[in-house]
Amino acid sequence: MNITDIKSFIPPIRTLMGPGPSDVHPRVLQAMARPTIGHLDPAFIDMMDEIKVLLHYAFQTQNALTLPISAPGSAGMETCFVNLVEPGDKVIVCQNGVFGGRMKENVERTGGIAVVIADEWGTAVDPNRLEDTLKAHPDTKIVAFVHAETSTGVKSDAKTLGEIAHRYHCITIVDAVTSLGGIPLKVDEWQIDAIYSGSQKCLSCTPGLSPVSFNERAVEKIKQRQTKVQSWFLDLNLVMGYWGSSAKRTYHHTAPINVLYGLHEALIMLKEEGLENAWARHERHYQALRQGIENLGLTFKVKESERLPQLNAITVPAGIDEAEVRQRLLNEYHLEIGAGLGNLAGQIWRIGLMGYACNLKNVWYCVEALKEILS
Ligand code: PLP
Repeated sequence: MNITDIKSFIPPIRTLMGPGPSDVHPRVLQAMARPTIGHLDPAFIDMMDEIKVLLHYAFQTQNALTLPISAPGSAGMETCFVNLVEPGDKVIVCQNGVFGGRMKENVERTGGIAVVIADEWGTAVDPNRLEDTLKAHPDTKIVAFVHAETSTGVKSDAKTLGEIAHRYHCITIVDAVTSLGGIPLKVDEWQIDAIYSGSQKCLSCTPGLSPVSFNERAVEKIKQRQTKVQSWFLDLNLVMGYWGSSAKRTYHHTAPINVLYGLHEALIMLKEEGLENAWARHERHYQALRQGIENLGLTFKVKESERLPQLNAITVPAGIDEAEVRQRLLNEYHLEIGAGLGNLAGQIWRIGLMGYACNLKNVWYCVEALKEILS
Protein backbone atom coordinates (compact mmCIF):
# COMPACT_ATOMS: atom_id res chain seq x y z
CA MET A 1 0.00 0.00 0.00
CA ASN A 2 1.27 3.42 -0.95
CA ILE A 3 0.80 5.97 1.85
CA THR A 4 -0.11 8.73 -0.61
CA ASP A 5 -3.22 6.74 -1.69
CA ILE A 6 -4.69 6.72 1.83
CA LYS A 7 -7.72 9.01 2.19
CA SER A 8 -10.21 9.75 4.99
CA PHE A 9 -12.06 6.61 5.99
CA ILE A 10 -15.74 6.68 5.03
CA PRO A 11 -17.28 3.45 6.33
CA PRO A 12 -19.93 1.67 4.27
CA ILE A 13 -23.47 1.91 5.64
CA ARG A 14 -24.34 -1.42 7.24
CA THR A 15 -27.18 -2.84 9.26
CA LEU A 16 -25.58 -4.47 12.29
CA MET A 17 -27.53 -7.57 13.31
CA GLY A 18 -24.67 -9.64 14.64
CA PRO A 19 -23.48 -10.27 18.20
CA GLY A 20 -22.32 -6.65 18.57
CA PRO A 21 -21.47 -3.95 18.03
CA SER A 22 -25.05 -3.13 17.15
CA ASP A 23 -26.25 -0.08 15.24
CA VAL A 24 -25.49 3.12 17.12
CA HIS A 25 -28.38 5.54 17.52
CA PRO A 26 -27.89 8.80 15.53
CA ARG A 27 -28.51 10.79 18.71
CA VAL A 28 -25.51 9.04 20.27
CA LEU A 29 -23.31 9.78 17.25
CA GLN A 30 -24.40 13.43 17.33
CA ALA A 31 -23.61 13.66 21.04
CA MET A 32 -20.15 12.22 20.39
CA ALA A 33 -19.42 14.89 17.78
CA ARG A 34 -19.79 17.71 20.35
CA PRO A 35 -16.62 19.62 21.30
CA THR A 36 -14.19 17.87 23.57
CA ILE A 37 -13.67 19.53 26.95
CA GLY A 38 -11.21 18.72 29.72
CA HIS A 39 -11.73 15.58 31.79
CA LEU A 40 -11.55 17.66 35.00
CA ASP A 41 -13.74 20.49 33.67
CA PRO A 42 -16.57 21.07 36.21
CA ALA A 43 -19.13 20.74 33.39
CA PHE A 44 -17.70 17.34 32.47
CA ILE A 45 -17.69 16.21 36.10
CA ASP A 46 -21.36 17.15 36.39
CA MET A 47 -22.03 14.98 33.35
CA MET A 48 -20.10 12.10 34.95
CA ASP A 49 -22.35 12.36 38.00
CA GLU A 50 -25.38 12.17 35.70
CA ILE A 51 -23.95 9.05 34.03
CA LYS A 52 -23.72 7.39 37.45
CA VAL A 53 -27.35 8.24 38.20
CA LEU A 54 -28.41 6.91 34.79
CA LEU A 55 -26.38 3.72 35.32
CA HIS A 56 -28.11 3.21 38.66
CA TYR A 57 -31.35 3.19 36.71
CA ALA A 58 -30.08 0.89 33.94
CA PHE A 59 -28.66 -1.62 36.42
CA GLN A 60 -31.56 -1.12 38.88
CA THR A 61 -29.18 -0.51 41.74
CA GLN A 62 -28.27 2.02 44.37
CA ASN A 63 -24.65 0.80 44.56
CA ALA A 64 -22.37 3.80 45.17
CA LEU A 65 -19.57 2.04 43.29
CA THR A 66 -21.17 2.22 39.83
CA LEU A 67 -19.26 3.69 36.90
CA PRO A 68 -18.19 3.06 33.31
CA ILE A 69 -14.66 1.65 32.94
CA SER A 70 -12.80 3.44 30.12
CA ALA A 71 -12.37 0.33 27.98
CA PRO A 72 -14.52 -2.42 26.42
CA GLY A 73 -16.50 -5.17 28.16
CA SER A 74 -13.42 -7.37 28.60
CA ALA A 75 -11.92 -4.64 30.80
CA GLY A 76 -15.08 -4.58 32.92
CA MET A 77 -14.64 -8.33 33.30
CA GLU A 78 -11.00 -7.87 34.34
CA THR A 79 -11.96 -5.09 36.75
CA CYS A 80 -14.20 -7.53 38.60
CA PHE A 81 -11.64 -10.31 38.72
CA VAL A 82 -8.49 -8.32 39.52
CA ASN A 83 -10.20 -6.44 42.32
CA LEU A 84 -12.14 -9.32 43.86
CA VAL A 85 -9.87 -12.35 43.40
CA GLU A 86 -6.78 -12.67 45.56
CA PRO A 87 -4.08 -15.29 44.98
CA GLY A 88 -5.33 -18.61 46.36
CA ASP A 89 -9.04 -17.69 46.24
CA LYS A 90 -11.22 -20.47 44.91
CA VAL A 91 -13.65 -19.30 42.22
CA ILE A 92 -16.38 -21.40 40.62
CA VAL A 93 -16.84 -20.45 36.98
CA CYS A 94 -20.01 -21.70 35.33
CA GLN A 95 -19.02 -22.05 31.68
CA ASN A 96 -21.63 -22.54 28.98
CA GLY A 97 -19.92 -20.66 26.15
CA VAL A 98 -16.95 -18.57 25.08
CA PHE A 99 -17.20 -15.87 27.72
CA GLY A 100 -17.22 -18.24 30.69
CA GLY A 101 -13.91 -19.49 29.29
CA ARG A 102 -12.59 -15.94 29.40
CA MET A 103 -13.66 -15.70 33.05
CA LYS A 104 -11.63 -18.81 33.86
CA GLU A 105 -8.58 -17.20 32.20
CA ASN A 106 -9.09 -14.15 34.40
CA VAL A 107 -9.28 -16.24 37.58
CA GLU A 108 -6.06 -18.05 36.74
CA ARG A 109 -4.21 -14.90 35.75
CA THR A 110 -5.07 -13.29 39.09
CA GLY A 111 -3.66 -16.30 40.95
CA GLY A 112 -7.06 -17.71 41.86
CA ILE A 113 -8.05 -21.38 41.67
CA ALA A 114 -10.73 -21.89 39.03
CA VAL A 115 -13.27 -24.68 39.47
CA VAL A 116 -15.11 -24.92 36.17
CA ILE A 117 -18.62 -26.27 35.80
CA ALA A 118 -18.85 -27.03 32.09
CA ASP A 119 -22.45 -26.89 30.91
CA GLU A 120 -23.32 -27.87 27.37
CA TRP A 121 -23.04 -24.97 24.91
CA GLY A 122 -26.51 -23.85 23.91
CA THR A 123 -28.00 -24.59 27.34
CA ALA A 124 -28.35 -22.44 30.46
CA VAL A 125 -26.11 -22.77 33.51
CA ASP A 126 -27.54 -25.59 35.64
CA PRO A 127 -28.34 -24.36 39.19
CA ASN A 128 -28.27 -27.93 40.58
CA ARG A 129 -24.74 -28.47 39.36
CA LEU A 130 -23.71 -25.18 40.95
CA GLU A 131 -25.17 -26.30 44.27
CA ASP A 132 -23.44 -29.70 44.06
CA THR A 133 -20.12 -28.05 43.24
CA LEU A 134 -20.46 -25.61 46.13
CA LYS A 135 -21.11 -28.55 48.46
CA ALA A 136 -17.97 -30.26 47.15
CA HIS A 137 -15.92 -27.04 47.47
CA PRO A 138 -17.06 -25.33 50.70
CA ASP A 139 -13.98 -23.05 50.66
CA THR A 140 -15.19 -21.28 47.48
CA LYS A 141 -15.11 -17.47 47.72
CA ILE A 142 -16.67 -16.38 44.43
CA VAL A 143 -19.17 -17.71 41.87
CA ALA A 144 -18.96 -16.26 38.36
CA PHE A 145 -21.32 -16.73 35.43
CA VAL A 146 -22.58 -15.08 32.26
CA HIS A 147 -26.16 -13.83 32.36
CA ALA A 148 -26.54 -13.62 28.56
CA GLU A 149 -24.07 -15.88 26.68
CA THR A 150 -23.57 -14.06 23.39
CA SER A 151 -21.69 -16.99 21.87
CA THR A 152 -24.73 -19.28 22.12
CA GLY A 153 -27.78 -17.02 22.61
CA VAL A 154 -28.58 -18.44 26.04
CA LYS A 155 -30.02 -16.74 29.10
CA SER A 156 -29.18 -18.11 32.55
CA ASP A 157 -31.20 -17.57 35.70
CA ALA A 158 -29.06 -14.93 37.45
CA LYS A 159 -31.44 -14.60 40.39
CA THR A 160 -31.45 -18.30 41.27
CA LEU A 161 -27.71 -18.75 40.71
CA GLY A 162 -27.06 -15.76 42.98
CA GLU A 163 -29.33 -17.13 45.72
CA ILE A 164 -27.46 -20.45 45.68
CA ALA A 165 -24.06 -18.72 45.76
CA HIS A 166 -25.10 -16.61 48.75
CA ARG A 167 -26.36 -19.64 50.64
CA TYR A 168 -22.73 -20.83 50.52
CA HIS A 169 -21.40 -17.39 51.52
CA CYS A 170 -19.95 -16.61 48.10
CA ILE A 171 -19.79 -13.35 46.21
CA THR A 172 -21.15 -13.32 42.65
CA ILE A 173 -19.55 -11.85 39.54
CA VAL A 174 -22.05 -11.54 36.70
CA ASP A 175 -21.38 -10.82 33.02
CA ALA A 176 -24.18 -8.59 31.72
CA VAL A 177 -22.46 -7.39 28.54
CA THR A 178 -25.33 -8.53 26.33
CA SER A 179 -28.15 -8.46 28.87
CA LEU A 180 -28.11 -4.83 30.05
CA GLY A 181 -31.04 -3.00 28.43
CA GLY A 182 -32.24 -6.09 26.54
CA ILE A 183 -33.74 -8.42 29.15
CA PRO A 184 -34.77 -7.96 32.80
CA LEU A 185 -31.76 -7.39 35.04
CA LYS A 186 -32.24 -6.23 38.62
CA VAL A 187 -28.94 -5.88 40.42
CA ASP A 188 -30.24 -4.95 43.88
CA GLU A 189 -33.33 -7.16 43.90
CA TRP A 190 -31.28 -10.15 42.74
CA GLN A 191 -28.44 -9.22 45.12
CA ILE A 192 -25.76 -9.37 42.46
CA ASP A 193 -22.44 -8.42 44.10
CA ALA A 194 -20.32 -7.42 41.10
CA ILE A 195 -21.46 -6.89 37.53
CA TYR A 196 -20.03 -5.60 34.27
CA SER A 197 -21.53 -4.74 30.91
CA GLY A 198 -20.64 -3.15 27.56
CA SER A 199 -21.75 -0.01 25.77
CA GLN A 200 -22.01 -1.52 22.29
CA LYS A 201 -24.94 -3.94 22.55
CA CYS A 202 -28.43 -3.18 23.87
CA LEU A 203 -27.44 0.34 24.92
CA SER A 204 -27.03 1.44 21.24
CA CYS A 205 -23.75 3.20 21.98
CA THR A 206 -20.32 2.72 20.39
CA PRO A 207 -17.91 0.09 21.76
CA GLY A 208 -15.27 1.10 24.26
CA LEU A 209 -16.95 1.53 27.65
CA SER A 210 -17.82 -1.02 30.28
CA PRO A 211 -20.35 -0.03 32.94
CA VAL A 212 -19.66 -1.85 36.23
CA SER A 213 -21.32 -1.92 39.64
CA PHE A 214 -20.24 -3.35 43.02
CA ASN A 215 -22.33 -3.68 46.18
CA GLU A 216 -21.17 -3.30 49.79
CA ARG A 217 -20.33 -7.00 50.11
CA ALA A 218 -17.99 -6.77 47.12
CA VAL A 219 -16.48 -3.49 48.33
CA GLU A 220 -15.81 -5.10 51.70
CA LYS A 221 -13.94 -7.97 50.02
CA ILE A 222 -11.84 -5.47 48.08
CA LYS A 223 -11.09 -3.50 51.28
CA GLN A 224 -9.93 -6.67 53.05
CA ARG A 225 -7.36 -7.56 50.39
CA GLN A 226 -3.97 -8.55 51.72
CA THR A 227 -2.30 -7.92 48.36
CA LYS A 228 -2.30 -4.98 45.98
CA VAL A 229 -4.60 -5.20 42.95
CA GLN A 230 -2.21 -6.39 40.25
CA SER A 231 -3.50 -3.97 37.59
CA TRP A 232 -2.74 -0.29 38.18
CA PHE A 233 -5.27 0.91 35.56
CA LEU A 234 -8.16 -1.21 36.86
CA ASP A 235 -7.50 -0.84 40.60
CA LEU A 236 -10.84 0.52 41.82
CA ASN A 237 -9.21 2.23 44.81
CA LEU A 238 -7.39 4.46 42.33
CA VAL A 239 -10.16 4.75 39.72
CA MET A 240 -12.48 6.07 42.44
CA GLY A 241 -10.22 9.06 42.98
CA TYR A 242 -11.57 10.20 39.62
CA TRP A 243 -15.07 8.64 39.49
CA GLY A 244 -15.84 8.67 43.24
CA SER A 245 -18.19 11.00 45.08
CA SER A 246 -15.52 13.19 46.65
CA ALA A 247 -15.85 16.87 45.72
CA LYS A 248 -12.20 16.85 44.70
CA ARG A 249 -11.67 14.61 41.68
CA THR A 250 -8.09 13.71 40.92
CA TYR A 251 -6.47 12.73 37.66
CA HIS A 252 -6.26 8.98 37.16
CA HIS A 253 -6.36 8.60 33.37
CA THR A 254 -7.66 10.82 30.59
CA ALA A 255 -11.27 9.73 30.23
CA PRO A 256 -12.57 9.06 26.68
CA ILE A 257 -14.58 12.28 26.84
CA ASN A 258 -16.62 12.01 23.64
CA VAL A 259 -17.48 8.35 24.08
CA LEU A 260 -18.82 9.27 27.51
CA TYR A 261 -21.01 11.93 25.86
CA GLY A 262 -22.33 9.06 23.76
CA LEU A 263 -23.02 6.81 26.73
CA HIS A 264 -24.74 9.69 28.53
CA GLU A 265 -27.07 10.18 25.55
CA ALA A 266 -27.67 6.43 25.16
CA LEU A 267 -28.64 6.14 28.82
CA ILE A 268 -30.96 9.14 28.56
CA MET A 269 -32.69 7.38 25.64
CA LEU A 270 -33.05 4.23 27.73
CA LYS A 271 -34.63 6.30 30.51
CA GLU A 272 -36.96 8.02 28.01
CA GLU A 273 -38.11 4.69 26.61
CA GLY A 274 -38.29 3.10 30.06
CA LEU A 275 -36.45 -0.11 30.94
CA GLU A 276 -39.57 -2.27 30.93
CA ASN A 277 -40.52 -0.93 27.49
CA ALA A 278 -37.02 -1.64 26.18
CA TRP A 279 -37.21 -5.22 27.48
CA ALA A 280 -40.68 -5.61 25.94
CA ARG A 281 -39.47 -4.23 22.58
CA HIS A 282 -36.66 -6.81 22.46
CA GLU A 283 -39.13 -9.59 23.26
CA ARG A 284 -41.69 -8.36 20.70
CA HIS A 285 -39.24 -8.14 17.81
CA TYR A 286 -37.68 -11.47 18.74
CA GLN A 287 -41.18 -12.99 18.38
CA ALA A 288 -41.47 -11.43 14.90
CA LEU A 289 -38.04 -12.75 13.95
CA ARG A 290 -38.91 -16.20 15.30
CA GLN A 291 -42.01 -16.28 13.12
CA GLY A 292 -40.03 -15.27 10.04
CA ILE A 293 -37.20 -17.71 10.73
CA GLU A 294 -39.58 -20.61 11.32
CA ASN A 295 -41.52 -19.73 8.14
CA LEU A 296 -38.23 -20.21 6.27
CA GLY A 297 -38.00 -23.73 7.74
CA LEU A 298 -35.02 -22.76 9.91
CA THR A 299 -34.71 -23.77 13.57
CA PHE A 300 -33.30 -22.26 16.75
CA LYS A 301 -30.36 -23.89 18.49
CA VAL A 302 -31.60 -22.98 21.98
CA LYS A 303 -34.81 -24.21 23.62
CA GLU A 304 -37.43 -21.48 23.84
CA SER A 305 -37.39 -20.90 27.61
CA GLU A 306 -33.63 -20.23 27.58
CA ARG A 307 -33.43 -18.02 24.47
CA LEU A 308 -32.15 -14.48 24.49
CA PRO A 309 -34.43 -12.22 22.43
CA GLN A 310 -31.44 -10.03 21.57
CA LEU A 311 -29.20 -12.84 20.28
CA ASN A 312 -30.68 -15.63 18.21
CA ALA A 313 -28.68 -18.75 17.43
CA ILE A 314 -30.06 -20.27 14.23
CA THR A 315 -28.97 -23.76 13.20
CA VAL A 316 -27.29 -23.78 9.78
CA PRO A 317 -29.18 -26.29 7.58
CA ALA A 318 -27.22 -29.29 6.29
CA GLY A 319 -25.49 -28.65 2.97
CA ILE A 320 -25.41 -24.86 3.36
CA ASP A 321 -22.09 -23.00 3.36
CA GLU A 322 -22.74 -20.75 6.37
CA ALA A 323 -19.81 -18.39 5.62
CA GLU A 324 -21.01 -17.84 2.05
CA VAL A 325 -24.47 -16.86 3.29
CA ARG A 326 -22.99 -14.32 5.70
CA GLN A 327 -20.74 -12.98 2.99
CA ARG A 328 -23.64 -12.54 0.57
CA LEU A 329 -25.69 -10.81 3.27
CA LEU A 330 -22.84 -8.37 3.79
CA ASN A 331 -21.94 -7.81 0.14
CA GLU A 332 -25.41 -7.74 -1.38
CA TYR A 333 -27.56 -6.47 1.51
CA HIS A 334 -25.02 -4.62 3.67
CA LEU A 335 -26.36 -6.70 6.51
CA GLU A 336 -24.07 -8.16 9.16
CA ILE A 337 -24.97 -11.27 11.12
CA GLY A 338 -22.56 -13.35 13.21
CA ALA A 339 -20.94 -16.75 12.83
CA GLY A 340 -20.79 -19.44 15.51
CA LEU A 341 -17.84 -19.27 17.90
CA GLY A 342 -15.72 -21.98 19.50
CA ASN A 343 -17.64 -25.26 19.86
CA LEU A 344 -20.47 -23.89 17.69
CA ALA A 345 -18.31 -22.56 14.83
CA GLY A 346 -19.84 -23.54 11.50
CA GLN A 347 -23.04 -24.79 13.17
CA ILE A 348 -25.01 -21.60 13.82
CA TRP A 349 -25.64 -18.08 12.63
CA ARG A 350 -26.08 -15.48 15.33
CA ILE A 351 -28.71 -12.85 14.60
CA GLY A 352 -28.66 -9.92 16.97
CA LEU A 353 -31.61 -7.69 17.78
CA MET A 354 -29.90 -5.28 20.09
CA GLY A 355 -30.80 -1.76 21.13
CA TYR A 356 -31.44 0.61 18.23
CA ALA A 357 -31.06 -2.28 15.77
CA CYS A 358 -33.96 -4.09 17.42
CA ASN A 359 -36.82 -2.89 15.22
CA LEU A 360 -39.42 -4.44 12.95
CA LYS A 361 -37.87 -3.05 9.75
CA ASN A 362 -34.62 -4.90 10.50
CA VAL A 363 -36.50 -8.10 11.30
CA TRP A 364 -38.28 -8.03 7.93
CA TYR A 365 -35.13 -7.03 6.06
CA CYS A 366 -33.11 -9.85 7.57
CA VAL A 367 -35.79 -12.50 6.99
CA GLU A 368 -36.35 -11.38 3.39
CA ALA A 369 -32.62 -11.31 2.67
CA LEU A 370 -32.17 -14.81 4.09
CA LYS A 371 -35.19 -16.01 2.09
CA GLU A 372 -33.73 -14.75 -1.19
CA ILE A 373 -30.29 -16.21 -0.51
CA LEU A 374 -31.50 -19.58 0.72
CA SER A 375 -34.16 -20.12 -1.98
N1 PLP B 1 -18.90 -10.92 27.68
C1 PLP B 1 -19.84 -11.13 26.75
C2 PLP B 1 -21.05 -11.95 27.11
C3 PLP B 1 -19.71 -10.59 25.47
O1 PLP B 1 -20.66 -10.80 24.55
C4 PLP B 1 -18.56 -9.83 25.16
C5 PLP B 1 -18.39 -9.27 23.80
O2 PLP B 1 -19.04 -9.63 22.87
C6 PLP B 1 -17.61 -9.62 26.14
C7 PLP B 1 -17.81 -10.18 27.39
C8 PLP B 1 -16.39 -8.82 25.87
O3 PLP B 1 -16.71 -7.50 25.56
P1 PLP B 1 -15.79 -6.62 24.61
O4 PLP B 1 -15.71 -7.30 23.29
O5 PLP B 1 -16.48 -5.30 24.58
O6 PLP B 1 -14.46 -6.54 25.26
